[in-house]
Amino acid sequence: TVATIGSSLIPVINKLHDILASSGTELSDISVPQVAVVGSQSSGKSSVLEALVGRDFLPRGCDICTRRPLVLMLENRSPNSDDDRIEWGEFRHLPGRRFYDFSQIRREIQAETEREAGCNKGVSEKQIRLKISSPKVLNMTLIDLPGITKVPVGDQPSDIEARIRRMIMAYINNENCIILAVSPANSDLATSDALQIAKLADPTGSRTVGVITKLDIMDRGTNACNFLLGKVVPLKLGYVGVVNRCQEDINKNRSIQEALAYEEQFFHDHPVYNSVSNHCGIPQLAKKLNQILEQHIRKDLPRLKAVLNSRMHAAMKELQTYGDVVESKAEQGAALLHILRRYCDDFSAMVDGKSPDMSTK
Ligand code: GDP
Ligand code: MG
Repeated sequence: TVATIGSSLIPVINKLHDILASSGTELSDISVPQVAVVGSQSSGKSSVLEALVGRDFLPRGCDICTRRPLVLMLENRSPNSDDDRIEWGEFRHLPGRRFYDFSQIRREIQAETEREAGCNKGVSEKQIRLKISSPKVLNMTLIDLPGITKVPVGDQPSDIEARIRRMIMAYINNENCIILAVSPANSDLATSDALQIAKLADPTGSRTVGVITKLDIMDRGTNACNFLLGKVVPLKLGYVGVVNRCQEDINKNRSIQEALAYEEQFFHDHPVYNSVSNHCGIPQLAKKLNQILEQHIRKDLPRLKAVLNSRMHAAMKELQTYGDVVESKAEQGAALLHILRRYCDDFSAMVDGKSPDMSTK
């Protein structure tokens, strides 16, 4: 099986969850990390997110498909809980309705996009919020954003580029947001919109990961090795190259699993990429995100400790309002013996007839 985000990140989060659960703290006390994809239109952002989640459910295509921000809340659920069906999605705008069919989720995303942004390429900053509940995902939020576009088409206003840039910045300015800067391999990295806008929000590059898509359709005789090694535009957290499904694959309903197997074979057979395999493939990208997430959690631990401490203080205070604090097991035992002894004393006094209240006469 392929290491998508789900399979590789769950162990870390779950371990943390177990520790927290045993101390009565919810996972919600950890700021759930966000991952947002940025880049120019049709660079492959939605395709990358889908491959990471391991399910087909996002509108993709060569035209503008993502026209509203899609906030995708992945919620890890243990497989043996209330519902025997394993994975489902629920939209914020359709509360209580569970979608078990992921192609229906895609249709609803398209329909909801059109409700708000019209049918003629319009863009809206109003979010679509979708929760995916599954044992195969980890608790995190992925954000699919419209791509940067230059020339207004359809119903788009003349300032479409500025509007989309503002929309993207509102998400990636958040220090808690990991930025996946997606650039296609068949255009020059030095002119990448993705890297340019990521740098505005994260000038030190401490939370930006470069993703190079479309390695399969580069000009023959060229390769993206220098891109991937950071020799063209250096990036602290580095780059990962991927091969997603092409439009024909999408039209033919090729599955994600098939596509991931194809990608693996592509890199394996390639004379150049097989020597930089730690920079190639969706599983590598998932692994990288895993490491970044771990660092994020580690950085967050002092704050988490403070939350736990203040919880403990509150609990102690509450306990004190119940009267004398009975602390250890030994003290509890002693208190019980004391009560029993008093009862025995009273009983003997009664039998001896010495107690006026309990006289047997
Ligand atoms: P977005 O606009 O950035 O979200 O891009 P999409 O994910 O919608 O993809 C745009 C188009 O590029 C679609 O037709 C995809 O099939 C195609 N595409 C995306 N990634 C790749 C890739 O790695 N290789 C090939 N050949 N096509 C890709
Ligand atoms: Mg998209």
